[in-house]
Amino acid sequence: MRPGILLDVRNLTKHFPVRSGPFQRQSGTVRAVTDVSFQLSEGESLSLVGESGCGKTTLARTLLRGYEATAGSAWFRTEEDKAFDLLKLPRRRLKPLRRQLQMIFQDPYSSLNPRMTVQQIIGEPLRIHAGELGVPTREGRRERVRELLLQVGLRPEAARRYPHAFSGGERQRIGIARTLATRPRLVVADEPVSALDVSVQAQILNLMLELQNRYRIGMLLLTHNLMVVRHVSDRVAVMYLGRIMETAPTETLFTSPGHPYTAALLDAIPRPDPRVRNRSRIKLGGVVPSPRNPPSGCPFHPRCVHARDRCRNDLPELEQIASGHQVRCHLWRELDLNGAAAFSRRTPVDQ
Ligand code: SF4
Repeated sequence: MRPGILLDVRNLTKHFPVRSGPFQRQSGTVRAVTDVSFQLSEGESLSLVGESGCGKTTLARTLLRGYEATAGSAWFRTEEDKAFDLLKLPRRRLKPLRRQLQMIFQDPYSSLNPRMTVQQIIGEPLRIHAGELGVPTREGRRERVRELLLQVGLRPEAARRYPHAFSGGERQRIGIARTLATRPRLVVADEPVSALDVSVQAQILNLMLELQNRYRIGMLLLTHNLMVVRHVSDRVAVMYLGRIMETAPTETLFTSPGHPYTAALLDAIPRPDPRVRNRSRIKLGGVVPSPRNPPSGCPFHPRCVHARDRCRNDLPELEQIASGHQVRCHLWRELDLNGAAAFSRRTPVDQ
């Protein structure tokens, strides 16, 4: 692994067998994630974007060993500057690394135990990793919980209360404090604001961004929402049917998309100005095909307005089209996708 790289995912594949009949014979395969590779630097934020069913959540779960990978590797650099393949490490050796790999969940309502006080919720990981975190005493952990609450914008008195006493945004702040408690190097955030009111989404995103920068946390953000992406990501990987279709620095992706699917996603962002909406050129029709029966050739061809015979037969490679910008499309040299990009530039994304 190159210096500065926190996570190096190579050719990660997760396929699920489908079994049926009285003998539970394998009758098919769900190809949830196929041949995904990317790198995440220390302190960098990478968004995995795509519609529901594109494989982003399966990818994250496989990385955190919720599922066993079918193939591939995911090298993670620890605090002690050692690299381990998360996908192959025996589970007992994975346990000590858990502290450095944390998750922020989508639903702040169900991710907090309603029978535990906030002190217990945030204090639990501190107690489990007391030695490594330097908080061996109960009083030390209480003080640390108070500090964490202040960092996420809550009052220290919140420690005595139960989750039901808080709003959705405040619960997500409690979840973030619990995540920070273990001083993680990598945080996987799965649609962290999609369950919240629009009015508090920007506050939570700003908080995550501030804490991520302050502690140089590597963040893998899974989302379907491109507004969120632009707000918090350094780079973006667009996924479709389990494969990466385009990856680019965030501004490049928004201003010069190289893949028709990305252009269609950008064009689908709601705009307040109807004149801009009327000039929209790329429509995303149809639905994502089943990963059990993916199309031949380019997985996007049944929905792509530019598809040609070659697209129906040959899978395009992920090609480098500029520094840090890769695209999986046979026709990237010929297509002019800047109409969608120009519209996207006018879209307010901050609030
Ligand atoms: Fe469309 Fe063909 Fe490019 Fe696939 S390879 S995105 S079908 S133009």
